Amino acid sequence: MKVFLQLSWFFKQEKKAYITGIVLLLMVAFLQLVPPKIIGIVVDEIDQGTLAAGKLLLWIGLLVGAGLSMYVLRYYWRIMIFGSAVKLARQLRKQLFDHFTNMSQSFYQRKRTGDLMAHATNDLQAIQQTAGSGVLTLVDSLATGGFVMIAMAATISWKLTLIALIPMPLMAILTSWYGNLLHRRFHKAQEAFSALNDKTQESISGIKVLKTFGQEKEEIEDFRRQSDDVVKKNISVAKIDSLFDPTISIVVGISFFLSIVFGARYVLNEEITIGELISFTTYLGLLIWPMLAFGWLFNIVERGRASYDRVSRLLAEKTEVLEQKDALDLIPSGKIGFQIATFIYPGEKEPVLQDVHFSLKQGETLGIVGKTGAGKTTLLKLLIREFDLKNGKVTFGGRAITEYKIKKLREAIGYVPQDHFLFSATIRENIAFTNPLIDEEKIFKAAKIANIHDDILEFTDGYDTIVGERGVSLSGGQKQRISIARALLLQPEVLILDDSLSAVDAKTEEEILHALKHEREGKTTIITAHRLSAIHHANLIVVLDEGKILERGTHEELMEMDGWYKEMYVRQQLEELVEQGGSLYGK
Ligand code: ADP
Repeated sequence: MKVFLQLSWFFKQEKKAYITGIVLLLMVAFLQLVPPKIIGIVVDEIDQGTLAAGKLLLWIGLLVGAGLSMYVLRYYWRIMIFGSAVKLARQLRKQLFDHFTNMSQSFYQRKRTGDLMAHATNDLQAIQQTAGSGVLTLVDSLATGGFVMIAMAATISWKLTLIALIPMPLMAILTSWYGNLLHRRFHKAQEAFSALNDKTQESISGIKVLKTFGQEKEEIEDFRRQSDDVVKKNISVAKIDSLFDPTISIVVGISFFLSIVFGARYVLNEEITIGELISFTTYLGLLIWPMLAFGWLFNIVERGRASYDRVSRLLAEKTEVLEQKDALDLIPSGKIGFQIATFIYPGEKEPVLQDVHFSLKQGETLGIVGKTGAGKTTLLKLLIREFDLKNGKVTFGGRAITEYKIKKLREAIGYVPQDHFLFSATIRENIAFTNPLIDEEKIFKAAKIANIHDDILEFTDGYDTIVGERGVSLSGGQKQRISIARALLLQPEVLILDDSLSAVDAKTEEEILHALKHEREGKTTIITAHRLSAIHHANLIVVLDEGKILERGTHEELMEMDGWYKEMYVRQQLEELVEQGGSLYGK
C-alpha cells in the first residue's frame, strides 16, 4: 500500500475530486444495504400474513428509489475518481517528457529507446490504474465490506456474523502471499516487455540494413524468442493472478455454508426470523464483490508500485550537463576558445581529446579535418554542451560556456549534425521547425542558400511535400541540405556544419559554400569535413589526429608544411580529376 503514500502529493492536489468521489462511493455502499433489508422484511410479512398491497407498493417504491440513486451516484464517482487518475497519467507523462528533453547525450547512450517507451506507456498505465481502480477498490472494499458487516451484526445477529467471518483471515493471508509473488513476477514481465519493445523499435528503424544483409530470418527468430519470453513471463503472472478468484470463491462458499447451517438452527430456535436469514445471506452475497476487489487491490497496487518505482528512478536521474544557478540569461557572442587539457567520455578510460588549444575570432571560419574517429565531432559536442569538460574549458565571448544558460548558449548555435534527422512532416515544417510562423520568404532564402530550393519546387507538393520517417523518400544530399536550411533559418551567431556536405557533389558544395560566405559575413562558421575542398577557404584549419592537433594554419600555410594536409589535398585533387575524366597533363 506504500504506493498510495507515494502518490499522496497527487491526491492532495486533486483533493476535491477525490473527496467528492469517495463520499459518493460511501453513499452507494450505504444504499446497497437497503434492498436486502427490504427483501427480508417483505418475506417476514408474507410469513406472518401481514403484507398488504399498499405496504408492498411502499417497499417496491423504496427499492426503485435506492436503485435509481445508486445509478446516478455510481456514474458521478466514476467521473471523479477515474477522471482524476487520467490527470495523473497526463502529469507524469509531461514530467517524463520534460525530463527526456533535459537529459544529456550520455543518458540516451545508457538507456534503450524501447525501454524508455515502455516507461512512458505501460508504466504510466499501471500507475493510472492505481490512482483510479486502486483507490476505488480500496475504498469500496473497505466501505461496502464494513457497512455490510455492521448491518449483519447490528440488525440481524452478531453471533451469526462472527461465524460467517471465520474463513476470512485465511483469505487475507492467501491474497497477501499471492500479492508478493505477483510483484516479483510482474517486474520480470515488464522487463521482458521493455526488451521486446526495444527489439521492435530497433528492427523497424534498421529494416533496410536488415534486408540488405539478408538477416530477416535471424531477426524473426530472435524476435520470436523474445516474444516467447514475454508470453512466458506474462503467463507466470497470470498463473498467480488466476489464483485470486478461485480462492475467494472457496472462502465465500465456506461462509455461505456456515451461515446456512447455523442460520437455520437460529431460525428453528427462533433467535432470528426466516426473513432475517434471507437478508443475511443476501448481505453475504454483497460481501463477494468487496472481497474480490480486495484481491484485485493487491494486484493493482503491486503493479502500480513496481511501475511507480521505475518511473521515479528514471525521473531521479540527473543530467550530467548542469546549469549554474546564476547562469547568464544572455546569448553569447564573440571569440570562441578551446582550452582542452583532456576530454574523456563518461564511463570511458582513454581520452579522446588531448592538448587541444586554439581560438577563433568572431566572424571567422574554422575548418576541422582529420581521419574518422580523430575527435572532430567530439570537439563540436563540447561547444554545444552535449558533454562537459572536466579538464579544461571552452570559452565564448570571453566567458566559459558553462556560465551561460544552456538554452541561450544553444540559441547562439545552429548545429547541423552528421546524423541529421528529419521529422515526419512537410519540408516547410522541417525547415521552419524552430519557428513555424516565420515568413515564407525567409524559408525560401534559407533553402536557396542551402541549394535545395529548386529541388523542393520540383516535388509535386513543393514545400508541402511530406517527408517520411527519417526522410526516406529523399536522397542523402537532399536531407543534408534541408538540415542546413533549417540551421540557417535561425541566423545563428555560430553555424556548425558537421560533415554536412559529404553527400552533395563537388559543384553543389562549391555553390553552397559560396552562398554561405556571402550570407555569413561577420558571423562565425565551423565546418568539419572529409573533403578538404569544403574548408580550404577557412581562416583557420585544424588537423586532428587521435585527439591531438597535428597541424594548424590556413590552407596556404598547411600546404607549405608538407604534412598530412598537403598529402591529403593533393590526393583528393587527383581523385577528383580522375572522377571528372580529366587527365593530369592538361585538359
Ligand atoms: P570524428 O568526428 O573525428 O570522426 P568523433 O569525435 O566522433 O570523431 O569520435 C572520436 C572518438 O570518440 C572515437 O574513438 C569514438 O569512438 C569516440 N566516441 C565518440 N562518441 C562517443 C561517446 N558518446 N562515448 C564514448 N566514446 C565516443
